Amino acid sequence: MQNPLLNFNALPEFAKICPEHVKPALSQLLDGANAALERVVSNDIAPDYDAMSGVLNVATERLGRAWGAVSHIHAVVDTPELRAAYTEMLPAVTEFFTRRGSDERLFAKYRALETAQGPSLSAPRQQALRHDLRDFVLGGAQLTGGAKERFAQIAERSAELAQQFSEHVMDATDGFAYYASEEELDGLPVDAKQAALEAAQKEEKTGGKLTLHFPSYFPVMQYAHSQDLRERMHRAYVTRASELGNPKHDNSAIMQELLELRQEEAQLLGYANYAQVSLASKMAQSPEQVLSFLRDLAERALPYAKRDLQELRTFAAQELSIADLQPWDQAYASEKLREQRYAFSDEELRQYFTEPRVLQGLINIIETLFDVKIVADEAQVWHPDARFYRIERCGELIGQFYTDLYARTGKRPGAWMDDVRGRWLRPDGQLQTPVAQIVCNFTPPLPGKTALLSHDDVTTLFHEFGHALHHMLTQVSDSGVAGISGVEWDAVELPSQFMENFCWEWEVLQKLTAHVETDQTLPRELFDKMLAAKNFQSGLQTMRQLEFSIFDMRLHAENDSANRISEVIAEVRRETSILPPAPFNRFQHSFSHIFAGGYSAGYYSYKWAEVLSADAWAAFEEAGVFDASTANRYRQEILERGGSRDAADNFKAFRGRAPTVDALLRHQGMSDSLS
Ligand code: ZN
Repeated sequence: MQNPLLNFNALPEFAKICPEHVKPALSQLLDGANAALERVVSNDIAPDYDAMSGVLNVATERLGRAWGAVSHIHAVVDTPELRAAYTEMLPAVTEFFTRRGSDERLFAKYRALETAQGPSLSAPRQQALRHDLRDFVLGGAQLTGGAKERFAQIAERSAELAQQFSEHVMDATDGFAYYASEEELDGLPVDAKQAALEAAQKEEKTGGKLTLHFPSYFPVMQYAHSQDLRERMHRAYVTRASELGNPKHDNSAIMQELLELRQEEAQLLGYANYAQVSLASKMAQSPEQVLSFLRDLAERALPYAKRDLQELRTFAAQELSIADLQPWDQAYASEKLREQRYAFSDEELRQYFTEPRVLQGLINIIETLFDVKIVADEAQVWHPDARFYRIERCGELIGQFYTDLYARTGKRPGAWMDDVRGRWLRPDGQLQTPVAQIVCNFTPPLPGKTALLSHDDVTTLFHEFGHALHHMLTQVSDSGVAGISGVEWDAVELPSQFMENFCWEWEVLQKLTAHVETDQTLPRELFDKMLAAKNFQSGLQTMRQLEFSIFDMRLHAENDSANRISEVIAEVRRETSILPPAPFNRFQHSFSHIFAGGYSAGYYSYKWAEVLSADAWAAFEEAGVFDASTANRYRQEILERGGSRDAADNFKAFRGRAPTVDALLRHQGMSDSLS
């Protein structure tokens, strides 16, 4: 019988893929990819774009596509057998792509290709080649002898340290529990209180068990009336994995070593610091540019943050008898202030957002804006909840996508867009159209009822569709720079965040909403409340994000930072903190994004992409939200270009100028005059 993972002529046969298919298929594809790699570096293959792509890209694209299908079903319909098959093959797949990325023979071949054909290649191919060459250099392919060995050691040791860092954070989080008396739990919402009582009961203890896991910790900070309890929990939370907690979980030495290794790696690669290495493949040009971007925003957000804090202090003193607001009072007082100001519940809003209406409304928006038709289509799916659609323009197939919207067991939490395959003019002359999958974890409908979405869910759905459109509407046919491929990390959220804006437009919401019982559209009064609540404390929130971003960038841009982590964070806080953190705050010791995630010298990306998407949206506000020529320009200059042109150039071509922060500040209520 044919292994479904080896059928590349059609869409993935999701319903037929079984755990026992994984190893044989992936082993065969890995062998094929390895053979292709050996062949492409040999003298048999000329340094010619088509010849090289015809051998290597065909093999690696198949490997990537089959592995993508396995990863996908592992994420959405997991079983112990499937997880075992996935885990068994993961190291070999990762190893292949790492090795391919640093193979010096292949690097030499690409350089020969650049010499032979560089200037005569099409613009997208030149861009793909530039990316390849850059990634070889960043992957250490240029290094020789001892330097190469050291580079590999650094990579291995860094991975180990990052793993230890997150384990320490996890163990420190797990290692704390506080058994509160019932009286101390006063103020907690019923479900949070119930969960605490049950957790204690299970261990045959009295009162309620509180932990540092978010679902337990956060309601305490937000709702517990006891200031002592909040302080106790806050202290435990912000000292996790630091020298102030269990010495077994102290991350101090790991952070220092990681920063030293990153600095050493940068120097091996010929850069002055690690921030430059990180930015080499991003839209932002230099650490200095990022820092001045962040500081400019900080300067402009600061007066609003001060106002937010002043309001909070006054409210806390007058209404909550908290005379001197402390860090552990902030979430509590904020929640009380929010409740007092904007009285509406998420539940009330949910009644207006039924899934079929929202999805149809979203499809209509896409059809209107981007001159396409979206119709239901047939394909094998992995679960009865999954749906399949096709996108056409003038009757011609452009792309297809799956949706899988509801939470269930065996499905990874969160929401994401992933590519099933990319647009590609294959070496055999066939044009492969792109296929995407959009996965969410909304609350499933009750039996026989229509599913209701929260406004957050709706925004998430629009966000993921933004990524999917970026992937599917591309007109670039070279793998590596078509759709989302090759798009700079700090620009990739532009199309997704852009789509979120529709969820805040009165005109749009009229089309997306119909009360589940009365069929009425969203009332204006409720909309006004949503809008008012949207920017609650945006000044304070912005300053907090900026504090993390500046800290991250400075750590990686200053080559002596490893020995002065606590000094750097203290300096950054003097610059950005409105409410001084407690002296025992060791936030940095659990900052996994930069010490154990992919965000080192990249945390600023959140704000950076927000600026891009807000400024792009402003063009629609200026011309009218459904203005056809603006939408055309957006599609042609940003969505269709994918990674084939630098994001900065895409933006400029669309907007006629470089991005500015004004639109973001305005959208977040930080441009009105302060009284
Ligand atoms: Zn996203």
